[in-house]
Amino acid sequence: MVKGQRRRHQLERYRERRDFSRSTEPTGDIGGTSGNPVFVIQKHDASNLHYDLRLAVDGVLKSWAVPKGPSTDPREKRLAIATEDHPLDYADFEGVIPEGEYGAGTVLIWDRGTYENITETENGPRSMSEALAKGHALVRLCGEKIHGGYALQRIDDDADQWLLIKIDDEAADARRNPVSTEPKSVVSGCNLDEIAAREGE
Ligand code: MN
Repeated sequence: MVKGQRRRHQLERYRERRDFSRSTEPTGDIGGTSGNPVFVIQKHDASNLHYDLRLAVDGVLKSWAVPKGPSTDPREKRLAIATEDHPLDYADFEGVIPEGEYGAGTVLIWDRGTYENITETENGPRSMSEALAKGHALVRLCGEKIHGGYALQRIDDDADQWLLIKIDDEAADARRNPVSTEPKSVVSGCNLDEIAAREGE
């Protein structure tokens, strides 16, 4: 039994007892309901406001800080700075990182869902870990705000700097600007101030 299967099996009783359409408790479904891996985009009000894009790959969340957040316009290239891998359950984190701690500030789950690796080579599909090692990955995101294909392209000469670019598909829409029009958490429905106030209680 592979690791993911074992975890799903272990969580059967936990799940049977809960209605996740009514409770906000974690489903433990880190692999996603469709079997696809999770992605999350966390809005992070640190010293500089940014959006952390995280994709579950081989048991960790591969992470990029995207200062302007994702665009739905294929003509917009968004800088994405690779940051350290995070644990899978970080995808559930929303709250306040205390002052003096690394990344101090409020974190809001801006979007979340599953993704599909659609990276291809001439010889067929390429694994996510290989695609990221090569500096070019194509993913199809299935979130609540963000949908469809995105390219992650490493910029030459700097291993940490990537571009996040919307693929020109049916989900591309230059008129949408979800970063500004849909600021709230997809989990709590709160904005950054409300999350900060909630923690201060
Ligand atoms: Mn961050």
